[in-house]
Amino acid sequence: MSTRRKDIWRYIELLPIIDPENIVSLGAGYTELITSTRLSKKLGLRKLYLKEDFTNPTHSFKDRAASVAVSKALEFRLNAVGCASTGNLAAATSAHAARAGLPCYIFVPKGVEKEKLSHALSYGARLVVIDGTYDEANWLAARFAEEYNIGIVNVNIRPYYVEGSKTLAYEICEQLGWRTPDHIIIPMASGALLNAVDKGLRELKTIGLIDGEVRISGVQPEGCSPIVSAYRENREFIKPVREINTIAFSLAIGNPGDGVYALRTIKRTRGAAIAVSDRDVLEAIRDLAQMEGLFVEPGAAVTVAGLKKMIEEGLVDRDEEVVCLLTGSGLKTPTIIEEYSAQPITLKPSSISELSKILGVESIA
Ligand SMILES: *Cc1c(COP(=O)(O)O)cnc(C)c1O
Repeated sequence: MSTRRKDIWRYIELLPIIDPENIVSLGAGYTELITSTRLSKKLGLRKLYLKEDFTNPTHSFKDRAASVAVSKALEFRLNAVGCASTGNLAAATSAHAARAGLPCYIFVPKGVEKEKLSHALSYGARLVVIDGTYDEANWLAARFAEEYNIGIVNVNIRPYYVEGSKTLAYEICEQLGWRTPDHIIIPMASGALLNAVDKGLRELKTIGLIDGEVRISGVQPEGCSPIVSAYRENREFIKPVREINTIAFSLAIGNPGDGVYALRTIKRTRGAAIAVSDRDVLEAIRDLAQMEGLFVEPGAAVTVAGLKKMIEEGLVDRDEEVVCLLTGSGLKTPTIIEEYSAQPITLKPSSISELSKILGVESIA
């Protein structure tokens, strides 16, 4: 493996592209899996790994999905690509479309952070903000795709999108020396990522690269948690959430397309589904930044908030080896930090004595 490229395409035999000439890559994947030192101690956990997937080219794990889907669009000779997005898929699809030289059409619900809109627009995408929910934006994108020869990443070429995300499972196992962790904790919007990680693990098992069982748990924000509600109420079906209220906008999908499958995966692997409050999420963002040096967005921090809650509720054993996926960067939602960080200090350049007083630092002179 050491001679292979350091992106998702190092696993090309397991990805659905026939001609490597069609690969569209900005280098997504092969992100660091780092060992937590301070946070794991605070949580009282033996071993915690953090998967730094916010370090991808457009700063979320969605680059994995977009790289495969846009490559497949080239292979299918489609005229253009697009997506419906809660924010992160917009930039990922737009960037890969730019790289491939394909026009790109993005549909987002109102409410998506303006930083995420600017990011997608910077790559030259046509961006449509729908005066409605994500589900309505998704519906419109699907209709649009039917009438033109366009590959909508998360609709008519969705199977390929999902294949990109499964590489997260391959990497985690490879980075652990081709063995499995005990438990992987994953943020859920549609539930697609969670199922993709499970698919990746099952494939590695089938080809004999790993054995061992991995618990898979999913986390949603309380203000939009249809999958968690079904889990808690022991229902086999999802009741769509209509009133969404959360700072984790990336996860704001009221009617999750892969929800029932995510539910089955969680139960089959003896994982758990858990919802976390905005307050829990802000605390997790702060802990990751101030204890580990990792700045992530709310949609990513839910995994750490969920882990803490699961430990408290006895759903995670302190001896388990846990991996939390960190799926998106804090730079995508910069105003979030105003909630917890200290204010900067403004001072004249001559005020050295005042400086030590304000900062509370003792002079060594
Ligand atoms: C899209 C997204 C997810 C997972 O979404 P699914 O629809 O469940 O695949 C997780 N975290 C972030 C930051 C995302 O943008």
